[in-house]
Amino acid sequence: MTQKYNDLDCLKKEWLKIKPKIESLFVEQWNDPELPGMETKSYARLANWMEDNDFQVTHSPYNIPTAFIASSETKIKSPTICILAEYDALPGLNIKNQTKKYYKNAGHGCGHNHIGPANVGAAIAAAKAIKILKVPGNIKVIGCPAEEILWGKIALFNNGAFSDIDCILTSHGDYQNGSISRPCQSVVSGELIFEGESGHGGSLYENNALNAAEKTIFKVETELKKQFPNILFRHVIRQAGLIPTITPEESRIWYSTRGFDFIETQQAYQNIVNTGKQISSDLKIKFHNQFISETKGYFPNATIGKELFKSLKLVGPPKWTSDDLDFMDKLVKKVSNGKKMTLHKDIGYFDQNEDYFGQDDGEVSWRIPLGRVNWAYPMEIPIHNRAWTELSGNKASYPGPLMASEALALTSINLLKNPEILKEAKEELKKKTQNIKITKPRLGAFKTMTQNPKSFWDGTWRE
Ligand SMILES: [Zn+2]
Repeated sequence: MTQKYNDLDCLKKEWLKIKPKIESLFVEQWNDPELPGMETKSYARLANWMEDNDFQVTHSPYNIPTAFIASSETKIKSPTICILAEYDALPGLNIKNQTKKYYKNAGHGCGHNHIGPANVGAAIAAAKAIKILKVPGNIKVIGCPAEEILWGKIALFNNGAFSDIDCILTSHGDYQNGSISRPCQSVVSGELIFEGESGHGGSLYENNALNAAEKTIFKVETELKKQFPNILFRHVIRQAGLIPTITPEESRIWYSTRGFDFIETQQAYQNIVNTGKQISSDLKIKFHNQFISETKGYFPNATIGKELFKSLKLVGPPKWTSDDLDFMDKLVKKVSNGKKMTLHKDIGYFDQNEDYFGQDDGEVSWRIPLGRVNWAYPMEIPIHNRAWTELSGNKASYPGPLMASEALALTSINLLKNPEILKEAKEELKKKTQNIKITKPRLGAFKTMTQNPKSFWDGTWRE
């Protein structure tokens, strides 16, 4: 037997010991969904688990309350493999508690109840295995809050959390099992606040904050969308008034722009801001733009991508039982008018085309080689939807993230054992980005997200 299989056996033994804990945390996180920035219990479950397993944990680094940084070897600076943890939920996507109280009806409609335990579990198993195998190196976990608003990793990155890291590994649910090595979308996001005067609708129509917000939306829909055909414009109206006989004092819109070209995505957002500003000035009302965050899409790293694929082939595809498949099949029928389930059951290496999602680790992937493992849900289950929440709370969803967990752990060991691969991954990144000017990402809402995240979700925050 080759050395590789010995490593795998050793890791497998360690990983199997913690597998029940990973599974119980899938449930605990799912049962207790918390909004971005408010993940106090979700973060603590993971950080405490790491502490119980001899990681040195910094709680709430840089005054970000629900973040953590954990290291298996504080004396070894390099090589360091960093695994990311995410644990926030989405507003309105609970399937048990569908109250209108936003903070009570959060739900795991993006499956971050899996990412945290699966990725942290990978780090714990790998750290135990490298001690037994006497492989020098540090396994680090960065606990990243508020992924859903693309905020946490940007805040951590701008504060220096990602220095001294040789490689980043992570995982996410999607529609295929495999190693993902292709771009995703850039996102720019912020809030436009229009301030008028409250008064009777008839006499103060011109100073109407809602009027300004609506005119802005109209102009974006009819003009800006045509000017930026490659950009997706998304918005919600967060404040719009209380009664039709009083013009609202304040109206606010949360806008995000998404696209594969970061500069174009930034320009589109700036055009929205300029539009809102101009309309406010025409209507003689006050205007305030408060930035939330921006992130570039993934910069694929083939060296790390191929390493992850190698590990995935050894681990094998998700081990769904017939009960798991039955559950998913029934759920698909329920949400898609009786359609047949389409589920990827194999493993692949995905380096063609691109993905239409945004991720805040995208920003970091332009500086540090990053690899990502996806696990598949049926194609008919929409992400950011209650159906995704429902599947994420059932044991039918476990085999995917368990596959990812094992593959991340095995890859961590392989990379620490073969630092030349890390060197190659860094050289690949350096070579491909040498002519690209990479700017520091802009970030807003720091005070709000770290001191009063509830006001963010109330739509009353101001910075
Ligand atoms: Zn997600």
